[in-house]
Amino acid sequence: MDVQFFTAWIEEIARAVADGRDHLTRLDAAIGDADHGSNLDRGFTAVLAALAATPPETPGAVLTLTGTTLIRKVGGASGPLYGTAFRRMGAALGQGDADVTLAGLAAALDEALAGVRKLGGATEGDKTMVDALGPATRALAEAADKGMDAEEALDAARDAAEEGARATIPLQARKGRASYLGERSVGHEDPGAASTALMFRALRAVAGR
Ligand code: ADP
Ligand code: MG
Ligand code: MG
Repeated sequence: MDVQFFTAWIEEIARAVADGRDHLTRLDAAIGDADHGSNLDRGFTAVLAALAATPPETPGAVLTLTGTTLIRKVGGASGPLYGTAFRRMGAALGQGDADVTLAGLAAALDEALAGVRKLGGATEGDKTMVDALGPATRALAEAADKGMDAEEALDAARDAAEEGARATIPLQARKGRASYLGERSVGHEDPGAASTALMFRALRAVAGR
């Protein structure tokens, strides 16, 4: 997977976030402050502009620029968290390598997960983006270990992210704004878990091109 692949991934996320903006905002209206869709749309619109202004030359540089831009442009909790995730992935891939293997991508996602967990203090089951990112990262690592091809491996990661997002519905939030609602957060999908699933759908879609 090369710089074109990672650029296409980020562009596909931006497109899907724009399409899914109202859905993500509705999820956040139920258990938050109704801005998750607009936060991410603003962030990824700025990311597209940054990538176009100075096209990065390596996969790691694409992800680092994405993360830095998200931190700069997104005010909500999700900005620093996703920003850290992409920056940690970029750092894990290195700024000089031109090609990323499936195992390298799995290792970079593991770094992203560690960064999000450290910054936000959430573990799986707290009803956050970690509930989608954790299972997806494990699924990708297992798939890479088994020697699956990229499409199969990214299928498994996407399915795990989607399942993890769905599994947040019956949970009570223990981190973030939704935790202020206590038991009233039960019965709604976490918006950040939903947007993480969207990012893994975008990754799978780009691998199938
Ligand atoms: P805000 O809550 O500041 O309005 P967003 O609405 O953009 O920010 O993002 C909310 C999402 O951020 C939540 O649905 C959740 O997935 C994620 N989130 C919030 N706090 C944390 C945390 N401490 N750790 C991990 N994820 C978190
Ligand atoms: Mg919000
Ligand atoms: Mg907010």
